[in-house]
Amino acid sequence: MLNARCLGVNAAGHLTIGGRDTVELAQTYGTPLYVMDENEIRGNCRSYRQSIDKYYGGRGLVAYASKAFNCKAICRIVMEEGLGLDVVSGGELYTAMSVGFPADRIIFHGNNKSPDELAMAISYGVGRIVVDNIVELHLISQLAKSKKETAHIMLRIKPGIDAHTHNFVRTGQIDSKFGFALETGEAMEAVKTALAAPGVELRGLHCHIGSQIFDVEPFELAAQVMADFMADIRDQTGVALAELNLGGGFGICYTSDNDPPAYDSYMERVSQAVKKTCQQRKMETPFILIEPGRSIVGPAGITLYRVGAVKEIPGVRTYVSVDGGMTDNPRYILYQSQYTFTVASRAADAKVQGVTVAGKCCESGDLLGENVPLQEVHPGDILAVLATGAYNYSMASNYNRSCRPPVVLVNGQAARVIIRRETYEDLIRNDEE
Ligand SMILES: *Cc1c(COP(=O)(O)O)cnc(C)c1O
Repeated sequence: MLNARCLGVNAAGHLTIGGRDTVELAQTYGTPLYVMDENEIRGNCRSYRQSIDKYYGGRGLVAYASKAFNCKAICRIVMEEGLGLDVVSGGELYTAMSVGFPADRIIFHGNNKSPDELAMAISYGVGRIVVDNIVELHLISQLAKSKKETAHIMLRIKPGIDAHTHNFVRTGQIDSKFGFALETGEAMEAVKTALAAPGVELRGLHCHIGSQIFDVEPFELAAQVMADFMADIRDQTGVALAELNLGGGFGICYTSDNDPPAYDSYMERVSQAVKKTCQQRKMETPFILIEPGRSIVGPAGITLYRVGAVKEIPGVRTYVSVDGGMTDNPRYILYQSQYTFTVASRAADAKVQGVTVAGKCCESGDLLGENVPLQEVHPGDILAVLATGAYNYSMASNYNRSCRPPVVLVNGQAARVIIRRETYEDLIRNDEE
């Protein structure tokens, strides 16, 4: 199948998630339906925490990047697991605040936070506002000063590592909208400005080199470049910054072609890189932060659809149409992202054909996959798409005035709706007469 701990096949040959029969879940809650397994999410949180304990003496914080999937229930789970939380907007911050997420464990990202969003973060006492650019640095300084508060900040640095090309190059990332460039001297200038700015306290540096990355090497290199830069800062300013945030981007399995490293191999090698550089530069090792998003919730989620029309165009292809599409999963139309599909009631059977899975939107490009292997399939069957826990619900839209599906969280024999299905009434709620 796919190496997610939460998926299986029962005696009836039905796909299960967290031991629950997905055909029954679809009957109970209707389709389309997102289902997530709570134990998988918690297990992933623990794997990351344990990796920091094991390889870095526990001197770090795992912050869940909530843009992957943010709602009250997930914020609570992450809070209970002792993780921090990344937010990238006032809305994500508001959700975290609504469950009383500890402010000192929140990290606020974004390349263009509004004055209102920044004021909200400063008032709530957000532990680390990651400053993207010099305009924002001055704005935060002014806001904090006028409120007679101190804003705790980090600076986002472009370490010059492009993790998306396979043979990554050290200068490839200067053209990014995020952060201060290292090699132009911009980053060092920003550090000096931040150290002198009233109302702000510079806790450390941040970098994030990309997403769905399978190699550990670019992370090691980024860690080394960033630790070196911290030593340069100490040499030039006399200030030893306390914290280094190495971002997220750890890859997961979407198809059997993907082969991500084990959860703790990142920390094993990255902590070695940090320790080695610190030793060479005679510097104390910093407190470390990592920010996994996709790898915490992605493998824990699936989407269930009901198949409608099956349209075979002889010699061309077979379209299998489902009752959702780009509105609940825009990742194929956006990035041609590959997924694994299975007929929930025939999960044990061999995949005997290649089909195109189409959504129901008025848009030819509204597909979820092309030439994907699938079992025999008939109208009325439940079709499951695996590893949809990240960047699916959070990217969903109401295009064609579609109602967003609910999210059900399973935990052993218990299951509960953590986000309810939208109704037509919800769709017209903001319409003026
Ligand atoms: C998106 C993002 C992450 C999480 O990335 P994943 O690929 O989901 O792990 C972490 N940090 C920052 C700054 C991000 O923008």
